[in-house]
Amino acid sequence: MIANRSYDCIVIGAGPGGCTAAAIVAEQGHSTLIVERDEVPRFHVGESLMPESYWIFERLGIVRDLEQAGFTRKHGVQFVSAGDKETKPFVFAEHDDRPSNMSWHVKRADFDKLLFDTAFNRGATCSDQTRVLDIEIKKKGNHLVRLQTADGKEQEISTKVIIDASGQSAMIASRLELKEYYPDLKKAAIWGYFENAQRAGGGNPEVTCILNTKSKDAWFWYIPLGDGTVSVGLVGDNDFLLKRGNAPAKTFAEEVKNCPGIGRRLQDATQVGKFNIAKEFSYTTSQMAGNGWVLVGDAGGFIDPIYSSGVFLALKSGVMAGEAVAEGLHTGDISGKQLGRWADEYESGVKWIRKLVRAFYNKNFSFGDFMKKHPQHVGNLTDLLVGRVFDRNPGEMFDDLDPWLEKLAKGESVEA
Ligand SMILES: Cc1cc2nc3c(=O)[nH]c(=O)nc-3n(C[C@H](O)[C@H](O)[C@H](O)COP(=O)(O)OP(=O)(O)OC[C@H]3O[C@@H](n4cnc5c(N)ncnc54)[C@H](O)[C@@H]3O)c2cc1C
Repeated sequence: MIANRSYDCIVIGAGPGGCTAAAIVAEQGHSTLIVERDEVPRFHVGESLMPESYWIFERLGIVRDLEQAGFTRKHGVQFVSAGDKETKPFVFAEHDDRPSNMSWHVKRADFDKLLFDTAFNRGATCSDQTRVLDIEIKKKGNHLVRLQTADGKEQEISTKVIIDASGQSAMIASRLELKEYYPDLKKAAIWGYFENAQRAGGGNPEVTCILNTKSKDAWFWYIPLGDGTVSVGLVGDNDFLLKRGNAPAKTFAEEVKNCPGIGRRLQDATQVGKFNIAKEFSYTTSQMAGNGWVLVGDAGGFIDPIYSSGVFLALKSGVMAGEAVAEGLHTGDISGKQLGRWADEYESGVKWIRKLVRAFYNKNFSFGDFMKKHPQHVGNLTDLLVGRVFDRNPGEMFDDLDPWLEKLAKGESVEA
């Protein structure tokens, strides 16, 4: 129930980024309204979490809730090569003895609802089925936000700060034309849910599996979920996946034939529900904050699903932006400089993940070959795969990886 005509802070979107930011601003005593256009809980893609999310869950006080929520524990990541070689799973606990050395495969509806409740418990006013129709950004603050609530009524609310966490809608970045698409990452995804698909079993740890197709034109994710189903997604260039003139089910089936590892895992499986499609989801923005507004999570950019970094980065930017907003409201400085004071530090971590994404899409590249030649970088790779890019700098790996990739791009041989 939206009781006030004005709030210190309005958060658009109740995904992981928005709920985290709302919880942090509200717990500092600032009046905070979070609005979500859908009914919560709502369906969303992005089920495999990165281990470094643990520290944010701890900060929000929800580790125990997550442990008891019935989500599958994610112990590691396994890669299956284009040649159908099942690599030894990369088990986080073998590389890291901190409590963050495992994570979860979550049903996003339930996970995001937990975060929505957390924002509420920290004092935020939480309103689902409430769509932001329009925003008017004023130069000197007190922006206007026009909302439509579940009963169809419209109302205008003023606010000192807008946190845009509207995900791929990226309301502010779209309006201010800040979105910049990565020309080399024009990907699409087709995904669905399967019953009776293969699970780890036999005491083996449950992992997120990434399987390359034979042609390396696409890859599959394989994420076993707590309700017994498995989320299986196919990712490839937008043109390759969606422009063959096929129905998504046909393209998916064709690529399953091109990926024996997925064929094996799905041999006794039945699909539940229909296929979903997402496309052109990778972009950055040229500015993360302005006077009285700041971008969080996908609303400020998304790289690629390959390393399951999206939710972690939404949570992380939610914390960083939430703290900057709370402090700014306290001191009366809600300038873009204050609200976006974290953006450079954030980018200094995100850039390593972006570089690793580009390495994956180089068809001639193999992590196995690179690690054979440079075993000293196993620790750096571990840090990248678990999301440890903010308190440590895994960047020195790229002193060797960049020249390696350049050689491959020129068709030169590399000595493994
Ligand atoms: C194909 C694919 C696979 C992925 N797999 C993974 C994965 O395995 N692991 C992972 O970590 N990440 C994954 N991601 C990324 C992940 O889905 C996102 O990074 C994450 O959900 C971002 O969180 P967010 O809070 O920024 O936005 P979202 O979770 O998208 O939340 C934004 C919310 O804003 C609401 N909203 C939008 N417009 C309005 C409006 N006008 N008014 C009110 N509300 C509005 C939306 O309804 C939505 O609920 C994947 C992404 C894709 C495309």
